[in-house]
Amino acid sequence: MYYVDVALPLPLTRTFTYRVPDGMRGQARPGARVLVPFGNKEIIGWIDRPRDQAQVHDPEKTRTVVGVLDTSPSATPAVLRLCRWIGEYYLAPLGQVLRTALPAGLTDSSTDYVELSGGMAPGRDLSGMELKLIEWLRGRDGAQPLARVRRELGDRVWWPTIRKLEDFGIVRVITEGPRVGPPVKTHRVLRVREVPSLMERDTLFGRAVKQRELFERVEAMGGAAEVTHLVNELGYTYAIVNALVKKEVAEIAEEEVSRDPYAGVEAGIAPEHRPTAAQTSVIGRLVDASRTKDPGTFLLRGVTGSGKTLVYIELLREVVEKQGRTAIVLVPEIALTPQTVGRFKAVFGDRVAVLHSALSDGERYDEWRALRSGEKRIVVGARSAIFAPLPDLGAIVVDEEHESSYKQGESPRYHAREVAVVRAAIEGAVCLLGSATPSLESWANVGSGKYHLLELPERVGGQALPPIRIVDLKAERKRQKDSTGPGVERGPVILGDMLADAVRERIRRKEQTILLLNRRGYANFVQCRECGNVWQCPNCNVSLTFHRRRARLTCHYCLHEEPAPAFCQACGSKDLSFKGVGTEQVERTVAETFPSARIARMDVDTTSGKWSHHEILGRVERGEVDILMGTQMIAKGLDFPNVTLVGVINADVGIHLPDFRATERTFQLLTQVAGRAGRGPKGGEVFIQTSLPNHYAVAAAMDHDFITFAEKEMETRREPSYPPHSRLVNVVVSGLEEAATQEAAVAAADWVRGLIESRRVADVALTGPAPAPIDRIRGRWRWHFLLRSHSAKTLGEVSRFFYTRWRPRAAKAADVRVIVDRDPVALL
Ligand code: ADP
Ligand code: ZN
Ligand code: ZN
Repeated sequence: MYYVDVALPLPLTRTFTYRVPDGMRGQARPGARVLVPFGNKEIIGWIDRPRDQAQVHDPEKTRTVVGVLDTSPSATPAVLRLCRWIGEYYLAPLGQVLRTALPAGLTDSSTDYVELSGGMAPGRDLSGMELKLIEWLRGRDGAQPLARVRRELGDRVWWPTIRKLEDFGIVRVITEGPRVGPPVKTHRVLRVREVPSLMERDTLFGRAVKQRELFERVEAMGGAAEVTHLVNELGYTYAIVNALVKKEVAEIAEEEVSRDPYAGVEAGIAPEHRPTAAQTSVIGRLVDASRTKDPGTFLLRGVTGSGKTLVYIELLREVVEKQGRTAIVLVPEIALTPQTVGRFKAVFGDRVAVLHSALSDGERYDEWRALRSGEKRIVVGARSAIFAPLPDLGAIVVDEEHESSYKQGESPRYHAREVAVVRAAIEGAVCLLGSATPSLESWANVGSGKYHLLELPERVGGQALPPIRIVDLKAERKRQKDSTGPGVERGPVILGDMLADAVRERIRRKEQTILLLNRRGYANFVQCRECGNVWQCPNCNVSLTFHRRRARLTCHYCLHEEPAPAFCQACGSKDLSFKGVGTEQVERTVAETFPSARIARMDVDTTSGKWSHHEILGRVERGEVDILMGTQMIAKGLDFPNVTLVGVINADVGIHLPDFRATERTFQLLTQVAGRAGRGPKGGEVFIQTSLPNHYAVAAAMDHDFITFAEKEMETRREPSYPPHSRLVNVVVSGLEEAATQEAAVAAADWVRGLIESRRVADVALTGPAPAPIDRIRGRWRWHFLLRSHSAKTLGEVSRFFYTRWRPRAAKAADVRVIVDRDPVALL
């Protein structure tokens, strides 16, 4: 008899043992996908390890593998090893890690649907939940996936209710088996036609506000958008979509497979730059390392515009072309622009695969297969590209290594930079982390000798870093007030005079400007001037953001929306104030101040279409935009030589967030965005508007002085101790009821304290529990506590013990969820 342990993509920390029929034995290798029975379903899992027959407790009861689905294991030995490490370190079930690591089409379980079956139980009282479900099903056509029941009716345990109704003959449950091959996606795309005049629009739409809103939204996305995106993410109904089609202002087209714009990215001309002396020396060290067995990790600190990309390319040339190996290049999702991709394609052509979140499952699967087979040898991609199935890996590059988007926000909560370091070590590859503003973690690893430091302290071609001027917003406000005289009410300062003059000058000289404000919407919150009432999200403890164009208040955490208010619901006053400037308001002010300028805004609201952000950047590159404004999206990676001015509307946004990384983030953002200016021969300058001109993050950014910033910031994190001085685990307990949540958090913390005492664990400290800074999100109350240690090993042991012993118990309690976040990037 042959047995294997199988990891299932479920929130269970253990693996399960199955028997392998003799005929399948040859294929049943570690990492191979298998279809197995589980409960009353069949699901796809992965073979973790063979299991010794002597260790199988109950051979009689052990179930049998239905089929082995891979001819060669979909998780290569290296990827499987990496996933095991992630599961251990980040406290996640191996099956879940594998599911994250492999293309979606490969993993699926059966889906359950419920539908009304027509029966009615006579003379029976139905419970509230039962009635609710029946009522809901009545309002819908046909069978509904259980996932949707949960989403729309509340995330409760619905199975008992459904089973009971099934017994009564009122509903029926339909189970669909898992898909075994990758799905082919078809898209239905809504395309709007041009309606140039406002008058025509008014007559067309009349009072159909929603229709007009949808029309204009699709228009803003470049004229076309996927229907599912409009419905599922933006919340428009099919009725509204169809109404546009009926009015003949839009049409719906079936598109079989979406076109991947990267597939068509021009290979372009490979820039024949000769490396500068500084680049040459850095490249030399990397090349030497790549020829050794254990090359180690390098941190490349290179100021903005110092030519880090050329260093990456030369390293790949060595590893891929000379040594015949393969390589991974990670970039943050928003920096994954055609420009970035083009630079690699120009040199390596068709050997480059691009992995990013907007690919359909089918496209992702195709790229994955091309990498797996060795047809493509380099992958450029966002976070999850670290799992690319490349054989004989020689180098991993992590660009903008300080970016917090490398950390996944859901389980497995891995950090791609850390995973890169581990994967490189497993495979004997060079690991190169690059940034102008390295994370303090990596910086500390240089200090302790774990990483090797490489530096590019100057811009290429003798370009100077742009001079940065600080504009004191308090002084500016006072000056503007004095100049208008008393009694005249003035809004907040959006464009100070200095910045406004500088922009005007750029428009005159036909140069481009970038304006940054890291806050979207029109106004951050709405407050009644009479009684002080602030509009809050009903599901989250955060204020609602006012979006003016759509005339709505929205929650940026749960996407709740409501119409913008005309009066206060508490006191009836009509005197409302809209506070906290956001990008939408800046756009308006800028448009009013510079009516002739061509403006583009880039933030989550204008880039929700699949490729809209590439479209906007394309316009900037072609010189069709004078002023590009937006959130942190515009701060990274852009290399436009005609941008000679960068303005930060308000540097203080985010600096006061109750999070230990708030200052570091501010410094990074200011430095990165400043780095967009003066990359061409015309030079450039930067204005930073702030109410905190003397803050060390602002001052250090002004001087382009990472070292001074790092020293100060390290000092402030010493007491209480935060990373990189110590390691953290953030345990977040959430639940639908406030009291039960608190109780569970207190019990969990007590349990851990007890563990620490009884086992005499030295050097793990527990802080809390306390309500999380945002103490309610999506209707769930949130409490948290922190575990802190200087020893990653001890901290790992304590949290693993907690995760495997206490957490499953808590999960049984009604609706309480426990998240264990190791090395958190934010504590909100
Ligand atoms: P970073 O990523 O460090 O901010 P980039 O890699 O984007 O900088 O390089 C900045 C600019 O300098 C790019 O336009 C690039 O083509 C150019 N460049 C890089 N290396 C050289 C070189 N050795 N000679 C001339 N130009 C170079
Ligand atoms: Zn009021
Ligand atoms: Zn909300």
